[in-house]
Amino acid sequence: FMVITARIYNPIMEVMNNLALLLYLNVRIDRMKEMALMPKQEGITAFHPQHYHVEFKNVGFSYQANVETLKDISFTARQGEVTALVGPSGGGKSTIAKLAARFWDIEKGSITIGGNDISQVDPEALLNHYSIVFQDVTLFNSSVLENIRLGKKDASDGEVFNAAQLAQCDEFIKQLPQGYDTRIGENGEKLSGGERQRISIARAILKDAPIILLDEATASLDAENESRIQSALGELVKNKTVLIIAHRMRTVLGADKIVVIKDGMIAETGNPQALKEKKGLFASMLTAQYEQ
Ligand code: ADP
Ligand code: MG
Repeated sequence: FMVITARIYNPIMEVMNNLALLLYLNVRIDRMKEMALMPKQEGITAFHPQHYHVEFKNVGFSYQANVETLKDISFTARQGEVTALVGPSGGGKSTIAKLAARFWDIEKGSITIGGNDISQVDPEALLNHYSIVFQDVTLFNSSVLENIRLGKKDASDGEVFNAAQLAQCDEFIKQLPQGYDTRIGENGEKLSGGERQRISIARAILKDAPIILLDEATASLDAENESRIQSALGELVKNKTVLIIAHRMRTVLGADKIVVIKDGMIAETGNPQALKEKKGLFASMLTAQYEQ
């Protein structure tokens, strides 16, 4: 009985502990099916860059033959800065964020971290350097505590509580029937969108990786949720390389650099003030959001 239990229990815990890898593998398997490709050589596992500037150079990428999803994308997300990707839906922002973590390999150009080409780095080794907070937050039907602990599998309960506090989760978690031991339902359906995203921010704070990839929630968050998420993010991004797909005004205007993506290309880039003055696509998107 013990042996069987161990066999069943351990793989599940392994999967739980390797959430990012799991997400990655799912996407990667889809990609392989799509392209009927074999996996490429996975690359070095000892990856210790000197710094964490993430640089895209002339990157081109296609999900399907004959459809160019990204064309000639060049920009640098610098360590210690927030780089915001903005632009119309379907333009390629999420694809850029996923490419930055080598969810797929690119066809043209290069993506480097501290000067190291990520196509030469083993994907699992690479993921240790990233905290990923995407919109489709994956939560498991286990306790809130364990869901947050996915960020760092050997974290003590105290470390989990601390991360939850920083991510503005503590209050709503304590109001759940069993507090931190409450099971949160299949994919967290018992929680609101804002609460789910704050849990994934807590996870990322716990992981404390040098590169943050963030796809902000677009769903109409209420004002309280919005300001709470904003302060949670403030904790998360300190001194990191932050690449954020920004929808909210405060993030957009607070970014160090904005890259406007349209139809798979960079339409404009610059700091918020410069882009406002340019009165181009970014300026008109700002006006449209203010009017809303
Ligand atoms: P954004 O985040 O700016 O809305 P995306 O990066 O999600 O844009 O999508 C860019 C383009 O790539 C869209 O045309 C979208 O339909 C397509 N796309 C996104 N993901 C996939 C996928 N897994 N397979 C095929 N096409 C995709
Ligand atoms: Mg997107």
